[in-house]
Amino acid sequence: MTSTRKKIAALIVAGGSGTRFGAPKQYLPLLGKSVLQWSVDAFGGIADEIVAVTNPGHPQPESVRCVAGGATRQQSVRSGLAALRASKPDIVLIHDAARPLVTRALIETLVAAAEKSGAAIPALAVTDTVKRNGQTESRDNLFTVQTPQAFDFALIDTLHEKYKDKSFTDDAALCEAEGRDVTLAAGQPDNIKITHQQDLARAESLLSLRNGDVRTGQGYDVHKLVPAQGKKLMLCGVPIPHDFTLEGHSDADAGLHALTDALLAAIGAGDIGQHFSPSDPRWKNADSALFLRHAAHLVIAQGGLISHVDVTIVCEAPKIAPHRAAMQQRIADILNLPPARVSVKATTTEGLGFTGRREGIAAQAIATVRLPFLFATAQKDEDLKWAS
Ligand code: MG
Repeated sequence: MTSTRKKIAALIVAGGSGTRFGAPKQYLPLLGKSVLQWSVDAFGGIADEIVAVTNPGHPQPESVRCVAGGATRQQSVRSGLAALRASKPDIVLIHDAARPLVTRALIETLVAAAEKSGAAIPALAVTDTVKRNGQTESRDNLFTVQTPQAFDFALIDTLHEKYKDKSFTDDAALCEAEGRDVTLAAGQPDNIKITHQQDLARAESLLSLRNGDVRTGQGYDVHKLVPAQGKKLMLCGVPIPHDFTLEGHSDADAGLHALTDALLAAIGAGDIGQHFSPSDPRWKNADSALFLRHAAHLVIAQGGLISHVDVTIVCEAPKIAPHRAAMQQRIADILNLPPARVSVKATTTEGLGFTGRREGIAAQAIATVRLPFLFATAQKDEDLKWAS
């Protein structure tokens, strides 16, 4: 993106206590991640900054910056806006975490509309007949409204301060109170709000269909073993005590390099060397978790999700078994996946070849990702603004 591009922030409202579900609905699992995480990930690659307003009494997700919400939705939004002030975004998208199906297309439409008018919301014309007290109401100009709602940041921040003692059900209502026009953009019919138990089942089925484009990618990497001389041997993100270490520009973690390549391969995004040149001084002694996280962000930015990853380490020594659980957990943490979706295993080559002669360690990896069928345009690396 060019430097004239507007700075975009996303504010995810996730402070509700979800009494209907017995637990806060934003933390319920939905196809391998929480409802909140789906909502956060939807803004990946679009928003420069994402803040979730949460209830400090709930478990706090580590994958997003959280700020404490207030007693009402409106107070929570005000807290979130205050937390974003320092970074001076041009546009803010305010989104309810309970709408995990929001698409990149809808978000981009709203950003474009808010850049023009200062305020834009997704709306759907009411098509069902509406009755009130046994009388049929006219459907003319009757809309249901969704989130995200997009605003000029300074405008909505000022209005939330101005109207902090009044009660509104959505953020556009503050603009209406001020007599400001709000652009109605075409809403997304399946951008449903998880309200009842059956909504969760519907969301699961919709997301399964949407992410039905299953891809696999393979990665392979080798690094040379050299005397450790105080340098730790890193494998799959875990430091291993050993007399030898792996030689390389970064931390030379062959396991994470192979896995990074597997993820990049699954989305057709080249290889690790294209993204992180071995001649770039920025990656000297770099923690390879950074490379893996970047690849995961590229998957998320395509609206995809990582279904499963599998790494095989090939070496005679060190023994991998004592570290396997730690490696599995570390990869799960980096990728923000449950450990059950991560496999780490090891083998020797029975003394044969360079691994058998202990000259180096090899690693192979396979990643399975689920992409949306509708994702047509491949993202370019420079378009992504994840801090990696
Ligand atoms: Mg490597």
